[in-house]
Amino acid sequence: MPKFIFVTGGVVSSLGKGITAASVARLLKSHGLSINIVKCDPYINVDAGTMAPLQHGEVFVTDDGAETDLDLGYYERFLNINTCRNNNITAGKIYQSVISKEREGKYLGQTVQVIPHITNEIKNRFLQASKGYDITIIEIGGTVGDIESLPFLEAARQMRPDRNHNDTIYIHVTLIPYLSSSDELKTKPTQHSVNKLREIGIDPDIIVCRTEKTISREIKNKIALFCSVPQEAVIEAPNAPSIYHVPDILKKQGIDEQIMMLLRLRSKKWDYEEWESYVNKLEQSSNWPSVKIAIAGKYTQLKDSYKSLVEAISQAGIANSVNIDFSFLDVQNKNFYTDIKKVAGIVVPGGFGDRGIEDKINTVKFARENNVPFLGICLGMQCAVIEFARNVLDLKKANSTEFNQKTPHKVVDIMEEQKTIKEKGGTMRLGAYPCALKSYTLARKIYGKNIIKERHRHRYEFNPKYMKACLKKGLIVSGIHKKMNLPEIVELKNHPWFIAVQFHPEFKSRPLSSHPLFDSFIAAAKGAEKTQKT
Ligand code: GLN
Repeated sequence: MPKFIFVTGGVVSSLGKGITAASVARLLKSHGLSINIVKCDPYINVDAGTMAPLQHGEVFVTDDGAETDLDLGYYERFLNINTCRNNNITAGKIYQSVISKEREGKYLGQTVQVIPHITNEIKNRFLQASKGYDITIIEIGGTVGDIESLPFLEAARQMRPDRNHNDTIYIHVTLIPYLSSSDELKTKPTQHSVNKLREIGIDPDIIVCRTEKTISREIKNKIALFCSVPQEAVIEAPNAPSIYHVPDILKKQGIDEQIMMLLRLRSKKWDYEEWESYVNKLEQSSNWPSVKIAIAGKYTQLKDSYKSLVEAISQAGIANSVNIDFSFLDVQNKNFYTDIKKVAGIVVPGGFGDRGIEDKINTVKFARENNVPFLGICLGMQCAVIEFARNVLDLKKANSTEFNQKTPHKVVDIMEEQKTIKEKGGTMRLGAYPCALKSYTLARKIYGKNIIKERHRHRYEFNPKYMKACLKKGLIVSGIHKKMNLPEIVELKNHPWFIAVQFHPEFKSRPLSSHPLFDSFIAAAKGAEKTQKT
């Protein structure tokens, strides 16, 4: 029988439920158990693709082209796996499917209701996700008490009585706030949120307490008593030096042993060395030199907008034994052009819309002319192509049709099949596409193979008509999607390190296997930093 762990959250949002769920998954995987992990998002959007990054953080893209919540990025990074569209269930998807079944006549004669139709649809997806795995971890987004998450919590509740009692457990992640005026940690919000869970019919088995101060034995006892769990099931989760320390913190309190006991499972092995050595490296990193990297974009107020990118660059930092000193530079800020001069490497990340676009193009120009290591990602590559066309090919009005439909030089253009698309949701070029690398190029050398597969999320493309002219003047297309003749990677011949890619390599970087493109970029920036200092 597949086993389920439901992870809920109480008191406030942004407690790190995703990191807790991923950490638990990492520990159980290290015990040799096969784990799947699913995020439930209670919003009505069918997927995260139509939401602004400044609201919900980055949109994470899977190999199979799903636009998902950024928690899937944590799952991939912690478990070193590729997730797919079934790893993210939204209320929008559930309602869409129930309503279309209703229209097809699948429920003829019935009144279609939240219970049982919506909850059954949710449970079916839980069961589907569990096929072939020892344990499926299901994180329920939102905070207990929200109206939106009720159907998901109800489905989670039903999973226990539906099956053997020992096949399902509930972990509640909550906050123990510290009041400085009275120098006290407060348990009341946790008691209330557990009561809220109980009202729904869920009795948590383990309580993970996020806290800024050490929780005393007395407080643990109090939480255990009020929440009817054994004292060892009250797990302390203080602010960690990094998210990758969290599995260790939970392990030290025996969360994995407790889970296996509750689910009547045995450890098959203990394989934790690789993770431990990564965390050890992180600890040593405070003594390493730092390298200043600019992310020149427009979603810089919310760091989560560039979550996977920051992770990928940091992981490359670890691989290169340097600390990354991030400069999140808003291209429209008045100090931008002064600040950009102080960095050792520049990334122009993905983005949508024309706000700040000219400044991004100028940023590429600066990197190209001053030999600063440059990595352009998606929109960043499109800016690199526009810049090169304007300033090297002398096509002064060159542009992308995303920003100017009437440009005489459509160096970046919408694909033919995109032209007829009216709906915005899930219709971009999405997911993993193969890309053939050209021999004797930097990209080919970095990847060390001829064919790569990277994930895409965009509508516009480098117009292949301009490939030849670019090549003549030194901008080489070093990667191509052959089937559709789409340029995927460009690099500058006469530049120490200048690569721009149409895909998002950041989605495939993992702590236990950092990404070659980022590794190489940081190595170049590290070199540049040295040159600048001497
Ligand atoms: N706006 C551009 C496009 O749709 C780039 C998208 C991106 O950077 N993800 O093609």
